Amino acid sequence: MKPIFLKPAFQEKIWGGNKLKTEFGLNTPSDKTGEAWVVSAHPNGLSHVAAPAEFAGLSLKDLYDQEPELFGPNHPEPFPLLVKILDATDDLSIQVHPNDDYARLHEGAGELGKTECWYVIAADEGATIVYGHHAETVEEFGDYIESGNLSNVFREIPVQAGDFFDVPAGTIHAIGAGITILETQQSSDTTYRVYDYDRRDDAGNLRDLHIEQSKDVTLFPHQDSAFTKQNATYEKNTLAHLMTNEYFSVYKVEADGAFETELADNYYLATVIEGAGSLTVDGERYPLDLADSFILPYGAGKVTFDGEMAMIMSSPNY
Ligand code: ZN
Repeated sequence: MKPIFLKPAFQEKIWGGNKLKTEFGLNTPSDKTGEAWVVSAHPNGLSHVAAPAEFAGLSLKDLYDQEPELFGPNHPEPFPLLVKILDATDDLSIQVHPNDDYARLHEGAGELGKTECWYVIAADEGATIVYGHHAETVEEFGDYIESGNLSNVFREIPVQAGDFFDVPAGTIHAIGAGITILETQQSSDTTYRVYDYDRRDDAGNLRDLHIEQSKDVTLFPHQDSAFTKQNATYEKNTLAHLMTNEYFSVYKVEADGAFETELADNYYLATVIEGAGSLTVDGERYPLDLADSFILPYGAGKVTFDGEMAMIMSSPNY
């Protein structure tokens, strides 16, 4: 049983920056790199295996297809999860994602809906996100659009490092400037843009908005998730539970010295978001650096984490 270490795929974005390089040591292609897809089998940005040697160079999609035993008895297609680190140097557009049924119907049979969640790794003083809206009904939402008043419908809230947000499909949201997050989500790349601050791209064009789709998929009224937590503290040396939905469970680990934990029968995705340390599995020790991302294959059983580090881990629920 060996952990599968992955190399990320990068996405350049008009709101991206250089923190993925300067803060996380990732080998980004530009100073407008918004996202590192650290665990991804999505065709729009595949992660590739760095180690062990027998799988090196394979995309995660090919690994999932060719080595199913690493992923246990449930083998949904496509690979269900996607993990990203995002550096929002500027505001992201305000957006909403569809659920599975809507995505399949309108975006193609292979595309999943997108339920996501965010662990805030870092946030500048005064940084905010958009999470939810103030319209009770889709008609009221339409009134905001028609009156040119759309920017007032969004609910803005201040955030700081350590906050966790559950963002189910249908939740209007945007990550604001000065925020770095670890995102765990369904493996989907379908975004409906509701509002983009009238920004223009390098060619001087406004980015497309998807108002009709947004009206179709947004939940009215907005509902906060019970999993969202601000100012939480976590017990060290445990697999602290952040959330569970029908798609995935998410955990935070804060290692302070060595601790052993027994993993349930599943496979796990993990990313180091702070510090460094090591992982020992099957008597073999693997060093872990900041931003390292790996999969613990199905049936890893007892593993030991050591060091001074924080990790976000997730496992699929189907
Ligand atoms: Zn999103």
